[in-house]
Amino acid sequence: MTVGNMDSAALFDAGKKGRGLEATKELSAGEVVFTEPSFAAVVFDRGVLDIQLLWSLSSLIDSHDTSSEDVSWCHVCHSCFRRQADLHRCAQCKFAHYCDRTCQTASWDEHRQECGAIRKLGKAPGEHIRLAARVLWRIHKTKGVASDSQLISVDQLEDHVSDLPEDELKQLQADVSTFSQFWSHGRKKHSAEDISHIFGIIRCNGFTLSDQRGLQAVGVGLFPNLCLVNHDCWPNCTVILNHGNQSALSSALHSQRRIELRALERIPEGVELSVSYVDFLNLSAERQKKLKEHFHFECSCEHCSHHTKDELMMAAAEGSKADEVKEVTAFSEDYLEKIETSRVEGDYHHVVKLCTECLEKQENVLADTHLLKLRVLSVASEVLSYLQSFSEAADYAQRMVEGYTKLYHPNNAQLGMAIMRAGVTLWHAGQIEAGHRMICTAYGILMVTHGPNHAITRDLESMRAQTEMELKMFRENEVVYHSMRDAALKSPPTC
Ligand SMILES: [Zn+2]
Ligand SMILES: [Zn+2]
Ligand SMILES: [Zn+2]
Repeated sequence: MTVGNMDSAALFDAGKKGRGLEATKELSAGEVVFTEPSFAAVVFDRGVLDIQLLWSLSSLIDSHDTSSEDVSWCHVCHSCFRRQADLHRCAQCKFAHYCDRTCQTASWDEHRQECGAIRKLGKAPGEHIRLAARVLWRIHKTKGVASDSQLISVDQLEDHVSDLPEDELKQLQADVSTFSQFWSHGRKKHSAEDISHIFGIIRCNGFTLSDQRGLQAVGVGLFPNLCLVNHDCWPNCTVILNHGNQSALSSALHSQRRIELRALERIPEGVELSVSYVDFLNLSAERQKKLKEHFHFECSCEHCSHHTKDELMMAAAEGSKADEVKEVTAFSEDYLEKIETSRVEGDYHHVVKLCTECLEKQENVLADTHLLKLRVLSVASEVLSYLQSFSEAADYAQRMVEGYTKLYHPNNAQLGMAIMRAGVTLWHAGQIEAGHRMICTAYGILMVTHGPNHAITRDLESMRAQTEMELKMFRENEVVYHSMRDAALKSPPTC
């Protein structure tokens, strides 16, 4: 498979959705439909701390990784987008950071003009300004089409600037003026309209890029062919970032950072390819609202039209009364806001207290697939894992996964990641059999959504081997297993 190969997909007229991509041959679950390097991409300057980062999976299995303690945004390589310690910075602008010389050399072409502009301005502007500039520099170099396999020129992508509300238009104008100070390309100047067009394209087509372990959003990029894949709330494909391998000792093994579009199920020839732009775990009306606000279209996918699974997502527990459900729903919405506030403030013990109170109230009133219950279970299990209260966390994680399994597509990537975290939590809680089973289930899903070579799948693979071995020991001699386990938990991790 070569990067940028478009043999399995072709442009077609998708009716009122406009352009779309369809399969030109039958695809099977887990198959890579196409890969695409970014037309342009940048690392975020800084962002909101994600709770998932607090409890870094990698720190549990890889003691060399210090990412859970150190959340500095400088620790993302500007070339391969991996998050790691000990990056070195560009000697000229002191802004860009790289793993090593190989990564720096690989992205010098992208960084060269940016480097000069940062030095001239004296500081690096925000990520959207930097991305817009990278897009325009690339357009100048390639006329908007970077390779033969690129099906659409970047400047032909939708911008939806005319649909923007007043406040966003104001922000756009401010960005345009910041951009003009930053931009340098000989004497070539662009009109405000041209620059707005690029910002509009980035706003509705930019794809968020995560670090190698899927724990944190670290940047944003533009992938023209990917922009042609239309949305469906129950999609047949998923997109992941493959970070490539620039640090391989042999240059023959070097590979470029790229996205992969992967089939989630068997897709017959001629069927439209789709991905989801929003998380499925919202009521159909909520998803439609988000899509309308951000991407400016009315979703009329099958799941929205039939309100599929809406009922499950707001189901009441058996035997509960309507007024009780109404009261608990309002109570939960209010509590989820409080939980979020405490979470942002980092008061994790208070988060646990609020979650416990909320779950007590929901018990016997809301069903286990109710979205408000699942949201509380999700926060509770994450925070308790972080606080190392694994037994309690395991109980919540297990209930959350049961709910998710009834709602998500069986090969949904978020489902796979949630099952993986639950599996690790159960393992740490000493529930080796159930933990191992979950890790195997997650592995099956991630083999489809991420493929065998992704860092997360490889992590899972080693966890699967580890839990399998422990399970064998456990079955042979339970007493010895527990005493060894206790000893292992008491001793500090070795480096
Ligand atoms: Zn790198
Ligand atoms: Zn530089
Ligand atoms: Zn929909």
